[in-house]
Amino acid sequence: MLQVKNIEFTYKKTSVLKDISFSVEAGEHLSIIGESGSGKSTLLKLLYGELDANKGQIFWKNSEILGPKYNLVVGYDFMKYVAQEFDLMPFISVAENIGKHLSNFFPEEKQTRIKELLEVVELTPFSNTKVKLLSGGQKQRVALARALANEPEILLLDEPFSHIDNFKKQSLRRNLFNYLKTKNITCIVASHDKEDVLPYSDKMIVLHNHKIVANNTPEYLFNHPKTPLIASFFGDFNVINGKIVYAHQLQIVEDSNLKATVKKSYFKGHYYLVEANLNGATIFIENKMFIENNREIYLFIKSQLS
Ligand code: ADP
Ligand code: MG
Repeated sequence: MLQVKNIEFTYKKTSVLKDISFSVEAGEHLSIIGESGSGKSTLLKLLYGELDANKGQIFWKNSEILGPKYNLVVGYDFMKYVAQEFDLMPFISVAENIGKHLSNFFPEEKQTRIKELLEVVELTPFSNTKVKLLSGGQKQRVALARALANEPEILLLDEPFSHIDNFKKQSLRRNLFNYLKTKNITCIVASHDKEDVLPYSDKMIVLHNHKIVANNTPEYLFNHPKTPLIASFFGDFNVINGKIVYAHQLQIVEDSNLKATVKKSYFKGHYYLVEANLNGATIFIENKMFIENNREIYLFIKSQLS
């Protein structure tokens, strides 16, 4: 189990994290979410032992994770970290980069392992391509495969799909997170994309104003967003009579006491996002059909858990 106890961290003058405590069971997947600048990357660096906390302690099983002040070589064998800026060897091939830290004592096993990892990150056709010739997204996938090569016990991922296009993202996420679950690898992922979190994380923590403001399952936090910040992570929402109501919870009906005027409809694929004015405030509604501007509509709030 990973245990984070009362961590506090300040960059020279900028206070970033305060009173951070949480735990992650072996094999569990945890997401760290929060706005840009909320300290997600800093927290991952602390977990990796790349930074020294001002206060608090971090343990993986029985070993304490120590920063550079106490540890000459940053990092631990049981843990791999894929940073936002990944450093690969540009002049050698994809396969060689992935196998970089694999032992040469068992060449056949090494090749089998590389082949398996190329499949996980869908780079088999690029096996012999030099890394410098790859796109940003392809490089990110090589970095992921390299981190997995020696089967770490814990994998720390900082916005792992940020450079990967939408054509590849969905299948890559499925491949990667399913692979980690089958290998029982504990995974901690910093993300600002709900698609990384909702289907794959066992738990998520929300960072805001230096602190953890929520720590629960994605399902619970989606169904009970206690602040607009949490709701905004999941999608378009409104605050109506002091309650958070997602755009998909508003239904257009024949008549009700919530009367709004349509301002604009946006095509979103399987629905339209209708922007409307309700008593002077802008609200958003998910609706199957396009609605013309200036139309008056009546709204009904569907309950959250139905
Ligand atoms: P996130 O990953 O959530 O976007 P970061 O952990 O990168 O957030 O940054 C948290 C805060 O720490 C930000 O205010 C950022 O400007 C600051 N920060 C990040 N790295 C450094 C650094 N090396 N030196 C000083 N301040 C930093
Ligand atoms: Mg970051």
